[in-house]
Amino acid sequence: MSKSTNITWHETTITKQDRRAQNGHGSCTLWFTGLSGSGKSTIANAVSNELFRLGIHEYVLDGDNIRHGLNKDLGFSEHDRTENIRRIGEVAKLFVDSGNIVTTAFISPFRSDRDQVRALFEEGEFIEIFINCPIDECERRDPKQLYAKARRGEIKDFTGIDSPYEAPEKAEIIIDSSKVTVDGAVEQILNYLKGKNII
Ligand code: ADP
Repeated sequence: MSKSTNITWHETTITKQDRRAQNGHGSCTLWFTGLSGSGKSTIANAVSNELFRLGIHEYVLDGDNIRHGLNKDLGFSEHDRTENIRRIGEVAKLFVDSGNIVTTAFISPFRSDRDQVRALFEEGEFIEIFINCPIDECERRDPKQLYAKARRGEIKDFTGIDSPYEAPEKAEIIIDSSKVTVDGAVEQILNYLKGKNII
């Protein structure tokens, strides 16, 4: 719900299409979703490295960094989680407008939140990447020791333990990181982007 009135949208002379043409590649959001420890950050970072190496304009929106700045007023209540994702979606949209391939790596457990972000974009611009790793494996990895803390009751509402994760129903890309290597995941994502003529 907008609180502002008398606001109009200004069209700029240089458009998204102009920026894409100048860059020589398309722009889109690579929206990673999955349980903590599934490998979102690891794979997102590896994709970013590869895109950068190829001379592609790319940027990673990192969860903790966003919570240090733009979203530092938000906590982990249901309302704040939804608002966190909404703002990240809006920022991602600006990056896509600026001609970038933007990567986001947030658990984003709620389907409705992800679908709300998808709705901000034009067809084909929002690419949902489901890192589908069994929770047992995520908990075995536990890179940040968060599952251990959640099991001890030191973190409440932890996704997969005492808060739900709603798996995507229409993800463009699904990767089981318990079966596919990081390099294999990068290859799968880059092949998708090539197939769609984005890169
Ligand atoms: P998330 O961002 O989803 O919370 P992270 O990327 O921080 O997950 O952690 C995933 C952990 O799993 C890392 O320690 C990573 O090295 C490890 N890992 C093992 N195999 C894979 C794989 N195939 N893909 C991604 N990560 C993997």
